[in-house]
Amino acid sequence: MSEASEERIPAAVRTHCPYCALQCGTELRAAPGGGPPAVAPSDFPVNRGGLCQKGWTAPEVLSVRDRLRTPLVRGADGALAPAGWDEALDLVAGRLRELRAASGPDAVAVFGGGGLTNEKAYLLGKFARLALGTSRIDYNGRFCMSSAAAASNAAFGIDRGLPFPVTDLGAADVVLLAGANPAETMPPLMRHLDRPALIVADPRRTPTAARAKLHLRTAPGTDLALALGLLHTAVLEGLVDEAYVAERTRGFEEARRLALAWPPERTERVTGVPASALREAVGLLAGAERAYVLTGRGAEQHSKGTDTVAAFVNLALALGLPGREGSGYGCLTGQGNGQGGRELGQKSDQLPGYRSITDPAARARVAEVWGVPESRLPGPGPSAYELLDSLGRPGGPRALLVAGSNPVVSAPRAGHVTERLATLDLLVVADFVPSETARMADVVLPVTQWAEEEGTLTNLEGRVLRRRALLSPPPGVRTDLEVLQGLAVRLGEPRAHYPTDPREVFDEIRRATAGARADYSGITYPRLDAGEALYWPCPETGAEAGRAGTTAAEATSTGAHPARDPRPSADLDAPGPQGRSATAEPEPREADPACPAAPEPDATARRPDDTRPEADTTGYPPRAAAVAAAAGGPTATAVPHPGTPRMFLDRFAHPDGLARFGAVEFRDAAEPVSPEFPLVGTTGRVLAHYQSGAQTRRVPALQGAEPEAFVEVHPDTARRFGVVEGELARVSSVRGSVVARVRLADGLRTDTVFLPFHFAGRGRANLLTNPALDPTSRMPEFKVSAVRIEPEPGS
Ligand code: SF4
Repeated sequence: MSEASEERIPAAVRTHCPYCALQCGTELRAAPGGGPPAVAPSDFPVNRGGLCQKGWTAPEVLSVRDRLRTPLVRGADGALAPAGWDEALDLVAGRLRELRAASGPDAVAVFGGGGLTNEKAYLLGKFARLALGTSRIDYNGRFCMSSAAAASNAAFGIDRGLPFPVTDLGAADVVLLAGANPAETMPPLMRHLDRPALIVADPRRTPTAARAKLHLRTAPGTDLALALGLLHTAVLEGLVDEAYVAERTRGFEEARRLALAWPPERTERVTGVPASALREAVGLLAGAERAYVLTGRGAEQHSKGTDTVAAFVNLALALGLPGREGSGYGCLTGQGNGQGGRELGQKSDQLPGYRSITDPAARARVAEVWGVPESRLPGPGPSAYELLDSLGRPGGPRALLVAGSNPVVSAPRAGHVTERLATLDLLVVADFVPSETARMADVVLPVTQWAEEEGTLTNLEGRVLRRRALLSPPPGVRTDLEVLQGLAVRLGEPRAHYPTDPREVFDEIRRATAGARADYSGITYPRLDAGEALYWPCPETGAEAGRAGTTAAEATSTGAHPARDPRPSADLDAPGPQGRSATAEPEPREADPACPAAPEPDATARRPDDTRPEADTTGYPPRAAAVAAAAGGPTATAVPHPGTPRMFLDRFAHPDGLARFGAVEFRDAAEPVSPEFPLVGTTGRVLAHYQSGAQTRRVPALQGAEPEAFVEVHPDTARRFGVVEGELARVSSVRGSVVARVRLADGLRTDTVFLPFHFAGRGRANLLTNPALDPTSRMPEFKVSAVRIEPEPGS
């Protein structure tokens, strides 16, 4: 039996949605007599009483018909058959030992996921580097926000998706969304975007673009030219904030020189955005008292994604936005723990705390926490696609352990990736459903999922959140931490180095990140359970125990194990961790079909004319205390660090405190259209599904809403290529072809077709996508492939 299942299970808990990076707050209540628990939105500030349809139906994933409940091992007949845990783990460990002995530690590889909790992501990285000794570890977050991370690190000296709380957006006057469609991908976010005028850059007239004051309908792959043209316009029209540029930045002259090559007329020719719209966009942004520039995957998933984001950051810096209260730049991270996943050590070039794996001091520090000599830490490995592409090749990995990812559907050039996976001597997949990747595995290890486990995640704001268990895991299922310990011990590692209690793992995270850029050392489970809103960096001051009773380690050692929820379950309607009642008097609000809402607690109501930044709803001490604590000042031993909801207000994270403009130039997409492939194929997301669809395709309501792959086509394009609304079409690139049902969309450019990437089988959109990589972030070019479209017989 899982250790987790031996603990007391409450009747109700506050936790968070298992899907996207918004991490909407929820209350889960056990169903009397069993069955899926009831879910309702909590009064968490980011969702303000709303959930999207994925969040409302999330409990159904807990009891899907084909939930994995026992390890599976592929037999001599080629079929997966049930096996015991000892048999499965012995087999995996034995074959990993053989492969390492024969070909060295890099013969085994690990592929993680941006949905894993902080504790899982951290222990997976440690397991790979110590128990396996391999440098071959990366994760699917590489496919998500790595370009924005690279650009933010270069510009600001640190990457935190949003360096400000989501609630600040509600007080903005103007928000530019470049390649982001939150009305479908994270609908509750739109509750913070009711007031600002939206400028949306997107080749499609998405639901977000439909709500915009200004839609810049860019040609796919030209966002970089758009950003250069916007900066050019700002320069020409005298809208650059010269004082801010002089005081808070470096490198403007070179960025300005490169942008001056992009006058509005040239930008219009390349992007398709009229020069008048460029001027209007810059005028709106520069004229706003409070404005934000936000990027999403549409701007980031390119072979020039880092430069594209850097160009939007340049625009924001030129207008004086980052680090100004009520304004800024941010990336809308996608996956549930995309932020924590990228900073806690499952990325091939990083150790926990965003420490560089090539930095001797960082290596020494992490080795010390891990209790090993620094020489045991491998160096950097290849990025996600490069790792997948190397599988089974001479000198490449012969075994792969996949945790929380489904690359058969989500990786670029997915047909090729599937072929590489098939060449392995050993494929091991830890998952809770038989995903397309799990079905290829030699060994499948069934693991717990969100409402069955404890842990933390870090949302798109850099706020660390508690995931709490409501249910016992099904018999036969183990936590990922238990799986990692089981394998590590079999590989000769000390059991104590691989704790199965997430609280112990989190305490190790605190030590491993202390003093790092992403510093979690001042964050504890008791502080989170007491309702504190803690955004990293949050360094330890020595006063954490006084704030919330004890640290997690102390609590465990004294037997005062923190309960899953500090309040008795009957008290869930009392003011909870967020300090307000979830059953407050309902307040009518406009219906949002994409985001059916529970009543919004009236404590969150704001007058429409209230333009002040939304109050911190969390009660952290004044910023002066944080600054003093961080500096080791007089309050350092008196109060725990309150965390850092807003970054860069005084200085950026570079040693000189200044932000950096990027020197970026436009370049074309890696694959031009041709007579054989005359259209641009671009991919994205829909409201009903999440990532590879492994979870959401199993939820009847979601599958009913979007049951199959579709291809969006402009009516003129449909006529030109003879495809018909509602019938099937075949879309092909040089890498493969998919069959999808035609959906006409007159808001789409005539040179572009769009496919969602959530579907498997013949609708697997990533069969088309181009793995050309960004030279800095190693992000593949998901957003631009040359394709053709033709009718598919047998519609
Ligand atoms: Fe979940 Fe939807 Fe909220 Fe994302 S926006 S966390 S999917 S409820």
